[in-house]
Amino acid sequence: MFFNCKITFFVQLIPMFLEKDLSNKPQKGWIEVICGSMFSGKTEELIRRLTRAKIARQRVEIFKPVIDIRYSENEVVSHNENAIRSTPVETASNIILLTGNVDVVGIDEAQFFDNGLIEVCNKLANMGIRVIVAGLDMDFQGKPFGPMPQLMCVAEYVTKVHAICMRCGSLANFSHRLSDREKLVLLGEKNDYEPLCRECYFELSKKQR
Ligand code: ZN
Repeated sequence: MFFNCKITFFVQLIPMFLEKDLSNKPQKGWIEVICGSMFSGKTEELIRRLTRAKIARQRVEIFKPVIDIRYSENEVVSHNENAIRSTPVETASNIILLTGNVDVVGIDEAQFFDNGLIEVCNKLANMGIRVIVAGLDMDFQGKPFGPMPQLMCVAEYVTKVHAICMRCGSLANFSHRLSDREKLVLLGEKNDYEPLCRECYFELSKKQR
């Protein structure tokens, strides 16, 4: 019994996005999307992948929207305070202008970018660059956020990470906003949001209606 549990656990840990290319062609560019709710570990996963690329001596460039200045002007910082140097940019098209001779481009908080980001990611990938995009897939109302849905469509690999529901402990994929300010773009401070599972989010929105 214990042995079976161990096997199941191990199988679930195998990352699906690492399927090996069976051809002998040299590696070309592609797009990876890491999405999920607040506190789901998106940025940690982005930093993990970029750090490993750096260890492999690959040239890495990281961008984030200017709006994301909650912790640091020019670093991508996760809630657990891992940090990696990044360039804040005003619009998605600036990413192309600022991308030098690199192997990997990381983009954090992608939901805050304009829809031009989809073309930018396609362009970079077509140039042979590995593009890793992290962002919120849904806003606090549970609606698809900014360019994220289209990015998930054009990406070769999509990883959805989950937070833990603050009310029942299940896996959470909704970001419930605790403050009642109406502004959609509210930066992700711990006090403003809580991750919730579908059931708890639905129960709460019924009460609030
Ligand atoms: Zn719940």
